[in-house]
Amino acid sequence: MQTLPTVLLRPGEADRVLAGHPWIYHGSVLRLTQPAADGELVQVKDHRQRFLGTGFYNSKSKINVRVLSPERIEPNQAFFEERIRAALAVRQKHLPDATSFRVVNAESDFLSGLIVDKYEDVLVVQTSSLGMDQRKAVILAALQAIFAPRAIVERNEAASRKFEGLADANGVLAGTLEGLVPIKLNGLRFEVDVIGGHKTGLYLDQQVNYRRVAEMAKGAQVLDCFSFLGGFGLHALRAGAAHAHLIDQSADAVAAAGRNAAANDLADRCSAEAVNVFDWLKAQTATQPHEKLLPRWDLIVLDPPSFTRNRASVPDALRGYKEIHLRALKLLKNGGTLATFCCSHHVDAGLFQDTVLSAAFDARRILRRVATFSQGPDHPIIPMIPETEYLKGFAFEVVR
Ligand code: SAH
Repeated sequence: MQTLPTVLLRPGEADRVLAGHPWIYHGSVLRLTQPAADGELVQVKDHRQRFLGTGFYNSKSKINVRVLSPERIEPNQAFFEERIRAALAVRQKHLPDATSFRVVNAESDFLSGLIVDKYEDVLVVQTSSLGMDQRKAVILAALQAIFAPRAIVERNEAASRKFEGLADANGVLAGTLEGLVPIKLNGLRFEVDVIGGHKTGLYLDQQVNYRRVAEMAKGAQVLDCFSFLGGFGLHALRAGAAHAHLIDQSADAVAAAGRNAAANDLADRCSAEAVNVFDWLKAQTATQPHEKLLPRWDLIVLDPPSFTRNRASVPDALRGYKEIHLRALKLLKNGGTLATFCCSHHVDAGLFQDTVLSAAFDARRILRRVATFSQGPDHPIIPMIPETEYLKGFAFEVVR
């Protein structure tokens, strides 16, 4: 094997890499022993020349190296096949009945810059680092060998691509695909727009939570806020909820949720509205002087988008979270349940719960915490890589 260009780290920067974190920031680099092309495989050593691993180099990114392995590897089809099969085995162990799930979740699966989602027999790929993007062909060949999918689609519009000097790309890379992809989550049918939908078409990270929240829904009047394709509402209905009202600002999402309700024979107990959740909750909680609000919901789900893209926007985000919690708590009956989620990496579980409690204080309601939630096991958390943990949630019952 030819010698690779070597990236030498500054003193004190090796431990993170030894601990398994794959990112080497520009500021951690002492120097290169020879020039490396962007996207090229390099070896990483500490300032005493101790070998730490190999990874993809990109001088244009703040993350200069994304380490792939603590060993010398060849990033060929065999390498990707082995890594992807290992990731698949994790899903088969922890989500044995799932047919649609995230197969590869970047850093969580030691493939920084690569995401692969499986929607039954269709795969959706995202390459968000230059090194991965340049190896799309071998990655595709590995995926063909493992899954023999009907189609492979690329959804490369992530904002992070521009930090790597990559342009947007979107379309069918292999096979043929027309229309929506019918999938099953926990036995319920959903139609997914893998070319034009959110993320890669659907939020797969809530698959387990749909089931768990639904267990609290028997006989309930359910309000599913930020409902998208209706995941929480439809699972609740199947579990015996009396009625579910779905609200989301996207008219397309609301229409799709309606089709999903019909496809599962749940439409007669389901309603959906394209509205802004903030405005809707505000209108529902508005009262005349001396008028008392009559709570009418047994279960309210809050699953908003991440209101934060960076640390600086956390205070604004918390104000948003608090507002919707305050209003939702006012609308819940005594004994009712609030199932609430936060998908921002920058807001941890402690801060999130503090925000809910601050809303509860303002609403003068006492809460009993009855469940905690995390992202599905197809979005593995590697605690040594804090960025892999982002989704958290709670279920609170209103004591009074
Ligand atoms: N609960 C969904 C995922 C929600 S993702 C699921 O399980 O699949 C966030 C959703 O919030 C998106 O569908 C987006 O259209 C919607 N959204 C974002 N801001 C909103 C707002 N202010 N009011 C209503 N919907 C909003």
